[in-house]
Amino acid sequence: ASEAEEKDLVIIGGGVAGYVAAIKAGQAGLKVACIEKRGSLGGTCLNVGCIPSKSLLNNSHLYHTILHDTKARGIEVGDVTLNLGAMMKAKETSVSGLTKGIEFLFKKNNVEYIKGTGAFKDEHTVAVNLVEGGETEVRGKNIFIATGSEATPFPGLTIDEEKVITSTGAIALKEVPKKMIVIGGGIIGLEMGSVWSRLGAEVTVVEYLGQIGGPGMDNEIAKLTQKLLTKQGMKFKLNTKVMGGDVSTSSVAINVEAAKGGKEESLDADVVLVAIGRRPYTAGLGLENIGLETDERGRLIIDQEFRTKIPHIRSIGDVTFGPMLAHKAEEEAVAAIEYLIKGYGHVNYGAIPSVMYTHPEVAWVGQNEQELKAADVKYKTGSFPFSANSRAKTNLDTEGIVKFLADAKTDRILGIHIVGPNAGEMIAEGVLALEYGASSEDVARTSHAHPTLSEAFKEAAMATYDKAIHY
Ligand code: FAD
Ligand code: NAD
Repeated sequence: ASEAEEKDLVIIGGGVAGYVAAIKAGQAGLKVACIEKRGSLGGTCLNVGCIPSKSLLNNSHLYHTILHDTKARGIEVGDVTLNLGAMMKAKETSVSGLTKGIEFLFKKNNVEYIKGTGAFKDEHTVAVNLVEGGETEVRGKNIFIATGSEATPFPGLTIDEEKVITSTGAIALKEVPKKMIVIGGGIIGLEMGSVWSRLGAEVTVVEYLGQIGGPGMDNEIAKLTQKLLTKQGMKFKLNTKVMGGDVSTSSVAINVEAAKGGKEESLDADVVLVAIGRRPYTAGLGLENIGLETDERGRLIIDQEFRTKIPHIRSIGDVTFGPMLAHKAEEEAVAAIEYLIKGYGHVNYGAIPSVMYTHPEVAWVGQNEQELKAADVKYKTGSFPFSANSRAKTNLDTEGIVKFLADAKTDRILGIHIVGPNAGEMIAEGVLALEYGASSEDVARTSHAHPTLSEAFKEAAMATYDKAIHY
């Protein structure tokens, strides 16, 4: 970037939040530059998050199915062996295809891509330490901070990404560990725990709370999910806190005790995955040079229009408030650019879906039953099991339920919770229903093709306002 030239918008961070904002700004004809330090675009999600984890989830599921679930389908297979190197290669191919795709979209939309680490020099100037050596400066009329998040470390356990790993190590192990301990039974713990369990590791999940799934998952769905994952071979220690660990030997020893206090116990494993949440990342950004502060959890403080207290500096994605999800970052990116250009924009935080890509998948949108109870909302509920759905039966994949929560009086849908095959695709219909303020009767009276899994969705809606037919 030439020093003299001032951009309409400079974006720090080329993750989902940053790259989507850059493309949207480019499409609107703004002069825009996006600074990314990792050497490739797409951030956590494309490089070490959503995409590589889903590649491993899909292929480990296929492997597990071929090993354990072919006979009843009339398929006889010979020796099945795992080629972990090739599985990792498939993952890398998906990642590089997608990250290069974004570089192409940058060119197409006239976005200048600056490879380097950005730091505020003053309120309009970002100094960039270039990946290929040297420095430059770029000035922006407006600046977006989209620097994302990083794994929260566990005090006393040093991450080496080999024996003590975060999700980044968990998508790149060179061999299948015999024993793996997962600290934290949230989404990362269950997704990555599933991958290595399917590939042959003995996986034990240690969770501080009394239920798995992390924040947001409905109690009933969490219990059912735990039962299904236990059946697949994963072990769970709930209400258990990790006190510390010892990495000095060839294996790792982890000391745990009951969350309410009690007898200590030592667990050993070849690999320990730390998955206790993620925290906003602003290290080295030079926030102190412009007087910007973060809250007690490290999040950049913004208003409804994503503005920090310096109005031309906005922030979006994992580094600020809200769920740390790629599609939430994407919604914010579009809305923030609309605020910039038109003065208005909108994100409906009440209708952001969550999906856990285990098998079966778990997906939800809106409020869960424990939240409605706590808020003293009068609601009704209806559910439908996949075991009564014709397509699930033909697929020999019948575990799980669809559950609706609707206002007791008006029937307006308040939340939808699914554990079952393809739940992640199916929840899109729930998100649309919520966006349009639909009632359960609206969904129940909508024709769904037969035989599809989505009929379970319709019948759960029927069960909410009246009765299901097939159960
Ligand atoms: P990030 O993607 O973290 O991007 C920020 C970027 O900024 C990074 O590339 C970083 O290098 C760069 N950066 C930071 N500081 C600077 C600087 N000073 N200068 C230049 N560049 C800088 N979400 C989902 O919705 N679905 C999923 O299936 C899913 N799976 C996940 C699996 C894993 C294992 C993990 C860890 C996360 C997953 N997530 C998933 C969450 C998702 O990855 C994040 O919500 C998303 O990446 C947030 O986007 P972001 O742009 O805010 O931040
Ligand atoms: P999380 O917040 O989902 O779960 C962390 C879990 O660890 C919680 O259940 C918590 O109670 C537990 N925990 C915290 N401290 C503990 C301790 N000391 N001992 C034992 N348990 C402890 O966080 P995560 O799984 O690390 O995921 C981080 C973020 O990444 C989440 O915000 C998630 O939304 C996002 N992510 C999303 C997806 C997806 O959308 N499919 C996939 C992976 C990650």
